[in-house]
Amino acid sequence: MSENRQRYDVVVIGGGAAGLSGALTLSRARRSVLVIDAGSPRNAPASHAHNYLGREGVPPLELLAAGRAEAAGYGAEMVKGDAVAAEKLPDGGFRVVREDGSAVEARRLLVTTGLVDELPPVPGVAERWGRDVLHCPYCHGWEVRARPVGILAGGPMAVHQALLWRQWTDDVVLFRHTAADFGDEEYEQLAARSVAVVDGEVAALEVTGDRLTGVRLAGGTVIPREAVVVQPRFTARSGVLETLGLAPTTLEVAGQPIGSYIAADPADPAGATEVPGVWVAGNVTNPMEQVIGSAAAGLKAASAINMDLVTEDTRRAVEARRAPAVPAFSAAMERQVTERVLGDRRHGLQEM
Ligand SMILES: Cc1cc2nc3c(=O)[nH]c(=O)nc-3n(C[C@H](O)[C@H](O)[C@H](O)COP(=O)(O)OP(=O)(O)OC[C@H]3O[C@@H](n4cnc5c(N)ncnc54)[C@H](O)[C@@H]3O)c2cc1C
Repeated sequence: MSENRQRYDVVVIGGGAAGLSGALTLSRARRSVLVIDAGSPRNAPASHAHNYLGREGVPPLELLAAGRAEAAGYGAEMVKGDAVAAEKLPDGGFRVVREDGSAVEARRLLVTTGLVDELPPVPGVAERWGRDVLHCPYCHGWEVRARPVGILAGGPMAVHQALLWRQWTDDVVLFRHTAADFGDEEYEQLAARSVAVVDGEVAALEVTGDRLTGVRLAGGTVIPREAVVVQPRFTARSGVLETLGLAPTTLEVAGQPIGSYIAADPADPAGATEVPGVWVAGNVTNPMEQVIGSAAAGLKAASAINMDLVTEDTRRAVEARRAPAVPAFSAAMERQVTERVLGDRRHGLQEM
């Protein structure tokens, strides 16, 4: 992986589903593209990616390797590592600085750096994340269908999560942990759907061999469970965007913060940001987006970027066409030059 130019039409920062889909679209539009990717897609801890039509169950890194090869097949270049900053240049382009201090320029930026799942600090959660500690039923629900599942309450989504996961299994226990007590209506819904609620703080997850086997309460009681659902805090990987002046927006549910994202223009489904020339796609701007949706968002952003470049190229071409003709080469001057050249040649012939 290396970059061959100093200036690209588009530098894509982040080579997950969103970024690679954008790079594929742009390189097929005959744009010069560089993808800078740190190589840590969000779903890397999971063994398989689900609900990607046509590639159901594909290992996440295999899907991205295929995406890189497809984009490279149309000329996209890839470089591994972190982009750490970007600045706007006076000509409207951008300079992107990498962690090793090297820099490249781009006419436009597509930032698809994703998010970080900040996990609750319960022993066992981080170790089992993406295997039997889960958050998304569409990603993992089928794999634990009809199995004993625990929901570790971690914010305003707890009851919603319990009722949702109940679709995949009729053995759901909601651990209230440190959450505020639920309301009467919520208790009624949980009871109606046979979801048991356990009070008391969770001390740790029990792991036997390479399997989660239970949830241990602070008092020592262990409740057998084969999977535990948590509510991570979704924190946008927004460092580069912040250097461009784009601050993260707080993601709230029921008035409580559950993460952050970089807001795109709500009137523009393609992900244009407040900084002209900078687009965002995937989890960095939409924390709920899945792999296929992130890839689709990368495609949309890439199409918009290409159109923006077409518009700029057309404007420049029209300006150049309208510019007054350069007087230096009028027909009379052309005649003079021709005569002079011929004169010199004749002179040269005489000298030989
Ligand atoms: C455990 C788990 C399992 C999941 N399973 C599924 C599933 O089965 N199906 C599904 O549809 N979705 C699943 N998801 C959701 C899925 O991971 C996301 O929808 C998807 O990864 C979003 O793609 P993205 O391109 O926006 O971000 P990412 O895939 O996270 O890619 C972002 C890329 O940008 C890079 N990057 C970040 N910062 C920088 C920087 N400064 N410079 C350079 N590169 C940078 C990262 O290293 C990474 O490679 C799962 C999520 C988790 C946490």
